[in-house]
Amino acid sequence: MNYNFSGGLVLEKKGGLTQEKIVSAGIPPFLVVPLLQHIGIATMPIVKVGDHVLKGQMIAECGSEKCSVPMSAPIHAPSSGTVVAIEKRPVPHPSGLEDVCILIETDGKDEWIVADIIDDCTHLLPDVLRHKIAQAGIVGLGGAGFPSHLKLQVGDIHTLILNGAECEPLISCDDHLMRERPIEVIIGARILAYALGGVKRCIIAIEDNKPHAYQALKAVADSGLDHLHIAAEKFEIVQVPTRYPAGGEQQLIKVLLNQELPKKMLPRQLGIVVHNVGTAAAVFRAVKLGQPLISRIVTVTGNAVETRQNLETLLGTPMDYLLKKSNLNKDLMQLILGGPMMGFNVSSTELPIVKTTNCLIALSQPIEKSQNLPCIRCGSCEQVCPANLLPQQLYWYARAKDFEKIQDYHLFECIECGCCAYVCPSQLPLVQFYRYAKSEIRGQVQEKLKAQQAKQRFEFREFRLDREKAERAARHQQAGDKKAFLAAAVARKQAAAQKSEDA
Ligand code: SF4
Ligand code: SF4
Repeated sequence: MNYNFSGGLVLEKKGGLTQEKIVSAGIPPFLVVPLLQHIGIATMPIVKVGDHVLKGQMIAECGSEKCSVPMSAPIHAPSSGTVVAIEKRPVPHPSGLEDVCILIETDGKDEWIVADIIDDCTHLLPDVLRHKIAQAGIVGLGGAGFPSHLKLQVGDIHTLILNGAECEPLISCDDHLMRERPIEVIIGARILAYALGGVKRCIIAIEDNKPHAYQALKAVADSGLDHLHIAAEKFEIVQVPTRYPAGGEQQLIKVLLNQELPKKMLPRQLGIVVHNVGTAAAVFRAVKLGQPLISRIVTVTGNAVETRQNLETLLGTPMDYLLKKSNLNKDLMQLILGGPMMGFNVSSTELPIVKTTNCLIALSQPIEKSQNLPCIRCGSCEQVCPANLLPQQLYWYARAKDFEKIQDYHLFECIECGCCAYVCPSQLPLVQFYRYAKSEIRGQVQEKLKAQQAKQRFEFREFRLDREKAERAARHQQAGDKKAFLAAAVARKQAAAQKSEDA
């Protein structure tokens, strides 16, 4: 069943060893919960400063005027406590920008809301299940943060793929999840299949360097412990070769099904839906335990921490709290959010963990800085690009700020895997250029949209003023006509009266 995808790299998992078991990170004194933790529209707070909140209580929802656009996922209190501020704070994003966050002072009681538990989902319509998943605030936990319910919309879906590849070095949160909580992943996968209205195939894909995870999932799947097996005609756990980035959606579809995903096409247009194994476990918790998404597993690693581990972490936990829990050395020089290939540097350890944070790499020595030598047009980057792009061309156009031309070279097909930068002999920070170009283009699109809206508003105002002017003129005209008519009538009457008087 395994096919090859083009490009990619075989990377060593150096320094990736973590402790055996997932450990709870505990409850920090304050939780900083951003209103936007997913791709899409930010949520609106439904609590105010001074409110007491319970663990799992919804604290931000899609704003009423935005409800028609479902690209959002509500936010829930990760622990019980008091809302002490709703304000702008730095959030984990490559731009380094601030965003609105709800600050909760925890009370240490970790008191839950009353859970709505569903024992047997087969009594529910798939629609109801999708709504429950949406209300639980579940988004793709593989790093993308796409609201999960959007990928469960009714359609002609025949194959559900659960992505357990976790192909980037150093990250091991999915590996540990599959090893230690296989029931959550398997039942979560079956719930997802059921919410899709049933599928022909459900495939859980794991890289072949994770044999323990594979065995754990296989043992649970083979035991047939859940009546939800009806949701998928064929349920398979498969190993895929360890090759970066096998966990990319496009690459995984090629490896498993030998199907190329055409440019600008979504997997569901081919009848395929891909979810992360962490997302499946979150769905299990939401449906079977009635727990919304309020925590996730985060790998904390790097040579600046003594204890490399996977921590079950409440969303909103400040990063320095996790680093201390992992016995941070004093000489932290660089903090990377995400893996070494796709991650980005952050300048503050006070940033909160969000739904998409899978890994923190704390380094006591910064990774060697790019020398920025000129591109020698060696073509190495092109050979490893799994998206079949021309990275050197993208680099030239990004550097030249030619944002029109760069789109002709399919900039937005770039998955920012970093393979090109990894092999570049000139050590060019290629991905940084692509991210910069993407954000500039998005900014321009936003500006254009704003300008169009302003133009529309102006034109509408002009039209309204003209219409009002015309209406006023018509009223004057009417009034004038009426006056003249009345004057004529009066004159006629007077004339008639005069005539009869004369007679
Ligand atoms: S690998 Fe680097 S030097 Fe070689 S063509 Fe690509 S960008 Fe240029
Ligand atoms: S970062 Fe983009 S351009 Fe570079 S190899 Fe990956 S997909 Fe290709």
